[in-house]
Amino acid sequence: MTQSASAPQVLLGHHLKALRLPVFLREHAKVAAQCAADKADYPSFLLRLCELELIERERKGTERRIKQACFPSPKTLDGFDFTATPSLNKREVVELARCEWIDRRENIIFLGNPGTGKTHLSIGLGMAACQRGIAVRFFTAAGLVNALAEARSEKALVRLQARLAKVPLLIVDELGYVPFSKTGSELLFEILSQRYERGSMIVTSNLPFEEWTSVLGCERLTGALLDRLTHRVHILPIEEKSYRLKGRTKRGAKGEGEKGKERRS
Ligand code: ADP
Ligand code: MG
Repeated sequence: MTQSASAPQVLLGHHLKALRLPVFLREHAKVAAQCAADKADYPSFLLRLCELELIERERKGTERRIKQACFPSPKTLDGFDFTATPSLNKREVVELARCEWIDRRENIIFLGNPGTGKTHLSIGLGMAACQRGIAVRFFTAAGLVNALAEARSEKALVRLQARLAKVPLLIVDELGYVPFSKTGSELLFEILSQRYERGSMIVTSNLPFEEWTSVLGCERLTGALLDRLTHRVHILPIEEKSYRLKGRTKRGAKGEGEKGKERRS
């Protein structure tokens, strides 16, 4: 025989739903039984439930922020082998993962050859920010310029710019592979200008600063862009060879098995 829930229980269920406390709803009976067994008082019971609800909220928030960040793949700093990149100061990266630089509206620039872990590190730092409650948006430089150009043709540019200006951390990956049109460079410059001292950016490039003009076209615009970007910046050059190439050399012919996964990035 099924037992029907008592009126207070039904009401409690309704109220907890209305108050958006799903963990209270799911766990209250179990926690009450635990508290009874532990002879814990009412405030302790309430505290335990609140803690569980908060943990779940933080977990869901992080999950949502990671999804909204649009990372191309899930990479973490834990999965980064710092011994493979001695030119990179691990302590500095670990410190940056605390995200205080984002509170200070500073920027990070990773410079290095293809395959040296720039994208991995950017995602790792972006993930760390998501875990600390900071909203992040990841773009490749070409993807960002395309999105801006598309919005421009649909007269939605101002809205997109406003949305991007609000994101505390904007990641622009792979500046350097694709040269931009004059309009593309100007759109990118505008985003950087709008964020200047208002939000943080991570930019990665395979090109040293002297060569950024070859991507952005105009020397004056490149100068102005670098001026803003590097005003408060942590520049992290990675001087090693490609991690993938190194692996392949070590693995020798066996590295061929990895070929399918290879992609220029
Ligand atoms: P880049 O953006 O500099 O071209 P990626 O970050 O895309 O390089 O790295 C290429 C691949 O090698 C990725 O799968 C990345 O996870 C991996 N990788 C690069 N460096 C490291 C490292 N030091 N430890 C672990 N994985 C690495
Ligand atoms: Mg990359």
